[in-house]
Amino acid sequence: MKDSARAVIIGGGVVGASVLYHLAKIGWRDVLLLEKSELTSGSTWHAAGGMHTFNGEANISRLQKYTIDLYREIEKLSGQSCGLHPNGGLMLAANEGELDSLRLICSRARYLGMETEMVSLAEAHNLNPLIDTSHFIGALWRADGGHCDPSGTTHAYVKAAQQLGASVERFTRVVSLTPRRDGSWDILTDKGAIRAEHVVNCAGLWAREVGHMAGIELPVLAMEHHYLITEDLPELTGRDREIINTTDYSGEIYMRQERRGALIGTYEPHGVVWAPLMTPDDFTMQLLPEDFERLAPYFEVGFRHFPALGRVGIRKAVNGPFTFAPDGNPLVGPIRGLRNFWVACGVMAGFSQGGGVGLALAHWMVDGDPGADIWGMDVARYGDWATLAYTNAKVRENYSRRFRIRFPNEELSAARPLRTTPIYERLQDQHAVFGDYCGLEHALWFAPSAAEANEAVTFHRSNAHGHVGAECQAVRESVGLIEISNYGKFDVTGAGCEEWLSHVMANRVPKVGRIALTPMLNERGKLIGDFTMARVAHDRVFLVCTYAAEDYYRRWFERHPAPAGVSVRPCAMQYAGLSVAGPRSRALLQSLTHEDLSTAAFPFLTFRQMDVGMIPALVGRISFTGDLGYEIWVTSEYQRALYDLLSGAGAEYGLKLFGGRALNGMRLEKSFGTWAREYRPIYGPHEAALGRFVDFGKGDFVGRAAALEEKESGGALRLATFSVAAADADAAGDEPIWHDGRVVGWVTSGAYGHRVRRSIALGYIPAALASTTEGFEIELIGERRAARRESAALLDPTGTRMRA
Ligand SMILES: Cc1cc2nc3c(=O)[nH]c(=O)nc-3n(C[C@H](O)[C@H](O)[C@H](O)COP(=O)(O)OP(=O)(O)OC[C@H]3O[C@@H](n4cnc5c(N)ncnc54)[C@H](O)[C@@H]3O)c2cc1C
Repeated sequence: MKDSARAVIIGGGVVGASVLYHLAKIGWRDVLLLEKSELTSGSTWHAAGGMHTFNGEANISRLQKYTIDLYREIEKLSGQSCGLHPNGGLMLAANEGELDSLRLICSRARYLGMETEMVSLAEAHNLNPLIDTSHFIGALWRADGGHCDPSGTTHAYVKAAQQLGASVERFTRVVSLTPRRDGSWDILTDKGAIRAEHVVNCAGLWAREVGHMAGIELPVLAMEHHYLITEDLPELTGRDREIINTTDYSGEIYMRQERRGALIGTYEPHGVVWAPLMTPDDFTMQLLPEDFERLAPYFEVGFRHFPALGRVGIRKAVNGPFTFAPDGNPLVGPIRGLRNFWVACGVMAGFSQGGGVGLALAHWMVDGDPGADIWGMDVARYGDWATLAYTNAKVRENYSRRFRIRFPNEELSAARPLRTTPIYERLQDQHAVFGDYCGLEHALWFAPSAAEANEAVTFHRSNAHGHVGAECQAVRESVGLIEISNYGKFDVTGAGCEEWLSHVMANRVPKVGRIALTPMLNERGKLIGDFTMARVAHDRVFLVCTYAAEDYYRRWFERHPAPAGVSVRPCAMQYAGLSVAGPRSRALLQSLTHEDLSTAAFPFLTFRQMDVGMIPALVGRISFTGDLGYEIWVTSEYQRALYDLLSGAGAEYGLKLFGGRALNGMRLEKSFGTWAREYRPIYGPHEAALGRFVDFGKGDFVGRAAALEEKESGGALRLATFSVAAADADAAGDEPIWHDGRVVGWVTSGAYGHRVRRSIALGYIPAALASTTEGFEIELIGERRAARRESAALLDPTGTRMRA
């Protein structure tokens, strides 16, 4: 066995094999895969091999399409068959909600360039005669998908990688990992020691255990999963092609042809976590005992929906474990705090996702950038708050919802409430309807009574619509109060803070007492963050950003470390926040402080330490609502007193609480973007209409050269605001934008703008259409609706209200 390698990959399942192949393909030939047993011996060998392009996150769908398309390539290179059955896929809807969901999937696939159509039940039956169509009301057909042979596919990756120079050692168990000072790793195996520059954890079922070797706890657990293979079905005799792979939403069943019989699997509601504390070391090429008693009711639904399956015997039953992260998407990328340690685990659909995961990770390792927008599977989306018990609750929920539709206004209930701010009960008393954001409860909207404090899930406008409208109206006419604790915050202190921030951020660091908005760019000049920089003092800048990206930013700051003497302290949960917004917000706040808040003394984008009542606070004159407003940050122990003070004094000014839903609609009225929606690493600042926040005159900064190039060329895309002729459903994100009868772009956010009384969507279109206003359409739940591109924000385009 080699005693050194550029990269060592731990795990010879389909994911490790794909990472090995992609590293070798991109050019790292000195790469070694270590597998403690036989290749595929974890969850890979007993998989059903189904593959499809469906994912709630559009960019992951793209990588799934890449994965499926890749199989022909590795077959050719390796000479090893992947056992492909590219039958396509069918998704069945049994009710209107499911049908709306299919229409959305279908329209999204259009902008992703995938072949998908809504089909009649007769056509569905033609593609799969085993369906009893009386249980369904509609269906979606997709060209991509089918199934493959798990073992053949894994071996094809490995053989193709070996042809390119990569190495594999089977029956070689990694027992410990020790980092060296220079960032390389000592890998101890039962066959000897290896030194490697990089280590990749692709240990699948054992990903947590391998994580422990490096001192980290990964939020991943395995669930038991059953499928059955029937005896031969007479209904399939004489057919010249296989039936299409079929997903039955309401039955929570998937089925496909397996030789002359069928394979049927279920994601039952009360799934079981397997090995919740530690994966047994000796679980190799093994299955779990079947639990038919528990599963029978769910398979019976399948036998009703596909009656022929119930008329023959069961040839084989499989119960095997495979891993999930709390949201069901993979965990990929480098780990903050550990140099050259990478993960590609929690891949629950290895045959749909393994190729894309391998591609992104290999690019990340070789080029320093994944080369695609993989925010939805970046391991950094989970912080320390995602504990083992949290993961346990969420993976069970995720498993049970695998085939349930997720409505755009739906909040999931597992592991809640977990994190709450000091005013949680106060907001509850005001009938807040809460959402969950990184395990933290935050108010979405406020109902008039406890009995009305719940929201029906729908793709259309919900029962919250009118109440959210009243909240927006209060901000427009008097004053609204919103909790803003769910933002990320960093306290950057030390004499060199300006110099460092000037290097990592694209805008100029503001003067003391002022606020500046700034994009953060990567070397390719793409957006990797948007921040508010508030200069508290010469040697202190308070950064406000997206909380979900806190770890993502921390990892980036490690790559661009602050110099000695500068501290970059994440402090999201130490500072709680409240914001007042609306024309009477100044009068309200002025009644509680001796500071002069007049426009002359405290203009827009001012930031100051001041006492509000007895409470020491950091106050910034800024507001995401587009109206006059203030953000007030206090250390958490003061938040309740601040809330009581503001709400007590606010009565006189017509104060009304508002929540995240209202804020979202109001930011769209102002064409304000937000991270993970409008701002992602596939867009440049010019494309995202953030060009004015990039200061090319201040000297060099990360991404400057590429951003300058983008500015000069104009970029390929443009973020645009649309008013949509919607009926009772607004855009939610990911809808295609049409122009002149073809799909030209996609929606990033949408909502009803109550202050301007329009349905609004933000989205990207080609730069060539940037000055076109007419001829657009946006597809809402399968229906193309006329849309007008607005050349300015719909509310107060000159910003007079904010600056008042
Ligand atoms: C019943 C069932 C049906 C499924 N059906 C489908 C399907 O239809 N479609 C689909 O896409 N997915 C399906 N899956 C999921 C699929 O199996 C997984 O997504 C995939 O196998 C994950 O692969 P992996 O490489 O991440 O993990 P694994 O296959 O678990 O591989 C990890 C490897 O790491 C090795 N390893 C661990 N620790 C060490 C160590 N210390 N040293 C050396 N080696 C180590 C293990 O031996 C193992 O081989 C199914 C799973 C099950 C259980």
